[in-house]
Amino acid sequence: MLPADASPAAFDASYRAHVNPEWVRLLSILGMNLRYRSCLGAELHAEDGRVILDFLSGYCVHNTGHNHPRIVAALVDELTRCGPAMLQSNVAEHAGALAAELARRVGGGLEKVFFCSSGSEGVESAIKFSRAHTGRNGIVYAHGAFHGLTCGALSLMGSEFWREGFGSMLPETYPIPFGAPAALERVLKAQKIAAVIIEPIQGEAGIVLPPDGYLPEVQRLCRKHGALFVLDEVQTGLGRTGAFVAAHHYGVEPDMMVLAKALSGGLIPVAALLMRDAIYESVYSSLKRSIVHTSTYSENSLAMRAGLTTLAVLDEESLVERSETLGLWLRESLRSRLSEYEMVGEVRGLGLLNGIVFRAPRSVGLRLSFEAFRAVHSGMFGQMLVMRLFNKHNILSQICGNNFLVLKVAPPLVVTQEHLEYYVDAIEEVVRTVHMSSKFWSEALQLAQRALAV
Ligand code: PMP
Repeated sequence: MLPADASPAAFDASYRAHVNPEWVRLLSILGMNLRYRSCLGAELHAEDGRVILDFLSGYCVHNTGHNHPRIVAALVDELTRCGPAMLQSNVAEHAGALAAELARRVGGGLEKVFFCSSGSEGVESAIKFSRAHTGRNGIVYAHGAFHGLTCGALSLMGSEFWREGFGSMLPETYPIPFGAPAALERVLKAQKIAAVIIEPIQGEAGIVLPPDGYLPEVQRLCRKHGALFVLDEVQTGLGRTGAFVAAHHYGVEPDMMVLAKALSGGLIPVAALLMRDAIYESVYSSLKRSIVHTSTYSENSLAMRAGLTTLAVLDEESLVERSETLGLWLRESLRSRLSEYEMVGEVRGLGLLNGIVFRAPRSVGLRLSFEAFRAVHSGMFGQMLVMRLFNKHNILSQICGNNFLVLKVAPPLVVTQEHLEYYVDAIEEVVRTVHMSSKFWSEALQLAQRALAV
């Protein structure tokens, strides 16, 4: 093992040699290959003395902030008591308590929970459970969806970028446009559908909010045609949108719900698939089938303690309410400060899950640069925004994985009003530079050349 004080170059070299050299290259091109000393709340302290503000939250993992002291303490306590771990032969001590807390908060009769370790695994489980319950195979998903990169979850993502090179996917999966119930009903009528699996607010598609009445209509259509209604709340759950889960904003009661990411307190992998009793019973229908779907690290005590403590922190620090009020302020401020710029199409979101939507400029000068740029790579413009925010303003953010013109604004829910004000000033400076300065575009082209050269 390398000593903790080994040089950054030594860490990079072993990572390059044995993990993922392309990732090191990409971070280096973007100027984002920093070494971090400690991360707390919304602040990331780098070795070089910079303090980076996190406006990405690890794609909605860090709702309670980085290394929340209570969650860290719970994990330390669990480790030092030397309790049972992975015996695979006992009733896991904290799983029942965490399941009960989740069922109570989510409501809608989702009384049983299957625990696992990632969002993808939760989606995989939802696919299997809906097939077991309905005796059907078909799964419907929405254009632009992100559900994870294991084969089953990836089969519910249309984008060629993620699929290319990985061979054939699950059969009987059907894409529909998000927000169009008539298209959904056509598929539900024509095929034997086990489940419709969608995100209530599409994250990687560009923070796409459902049109009014859409989710209740999806629920109604599912019930009418005997399909299960499954919400993937991997990004939207745990207070991110200003409600415990986004389903609560829209008055829907899905048959299953996937939670992951922030349930871990950002520290230890955990995911949960919540469902109605009847679905659970279709899978674990007899003594013989009591372990028919399981996973080694499911219900592990560290994950369960992290989950329970994360819920306690959300309550004690009123983080769900905070997400709602800070989110309202943030969107208002961004709209008032950015609306005059022609390349800003919209600021949208809910709670602290927000996106700034950029669009092609109309004025000739800007348009030429923009198009030249887009021809090099469709994600390059967005990466330039990310880079400038990071390198000039010490702000970490990213563009959406399936929509490169949307910049995510999703800080930890413990972010302060001062942090938000700092962000609004910084993004305005970046957007102003994009509109006013040829330097932005020339730097951007240099970046493109460097990227192509490697
Ligand atoms: N669902 C959604 C909505 C996601 O955003 C993600 C990850 N970004 C996943 C599922 C997959 O989660 P994981 O990476 O933990 O497998």
